[in-house]
Amino acid sequence: MNVYCLLCQQRYVPKLGWSDFLTVKQADVLCDVCRRSFSLLDGERCCHCDRPFSLVADSYRHGELCTDCLRWQQADEWCDVLTKNRSVYVYDEWMKDVVTRWKFRGDYALVEAFRADFCREFFRHFSSDVVLVPIPLSRERLYERGFNQARALAELLSLPIADVLERIDSEKQSQKTRLERLRTVQFRLRTGEWRCDQCVLVDDLYTTGSTVYHAARLLKQAGMRDVSSFTLARA
Ligand SMILES: [Zn+2]
Ligand SMILES: [Zn+2]
Repeated sequence: MNVYCLLCQQRYVPKLGWSDFLTVKQADVLCDVCRRSFSLLDGERCCHCDRPFSLVADSYRHGELCTDCLRWQQADEWCDVLTKNRSVYVYDEWMKDVVTRWKFRGDYALVEAFRADFCREFFRHFSSDVVLVPIPLSRERLYERGFNQARALAELLSLPIADVLERIDSEKQSQKTRLERLRTVQFRLRTGEWRCDQCVLVDDLYTTGSTVYHAARLLKQAGMRDVSSFTLARA
């Protein structure tokens, strides 16, 4: 059987592998070369946010924590907000290209390329007794892109999804300083009702943590007992 790789469009003979999660044989949607270009997070990492210590200077490491997490932990209003973050891939040049194509050029089908790794890693770190909360896009962004990448990822996991957050700030976060970002209210709650008191926020990227910390704080304030996050890549 010959099929075309979702990324490079070359013909290849798909390998049938046992998926760890689905226990059915599934053919990879990528050729071997593209599949091997993804880097799973590996080696020593920050125990809180999953940042690989091999990718940062020694001065960013404080025992088990990275500098960013230490700062969150030292701030009274943030220290109990997020239980942990776990991610799947290193956000390297390859991953940047793939995410750009998927998210900004609307190549929705590419989510299939993440399925096996995303599901396997999720259940290594979290139980199935959680509700997933995808980080929302602003209405303008959703209109531009046609889909919310965080929701597309959450849907891979076949767990309950609660769209309880709404984004209220459409300004580019990256143009703000850390302090400005911390002061900005990014989300509001659409409902305060859920059947589960443990949730996992889902997003494509974890960079400074600002987005997930804001979302997590809102959920904690509304009574959620435990909030963690799971992202496709860790910058
Ligand atoms: Zn390929
Ligand atoms: Zn960290």
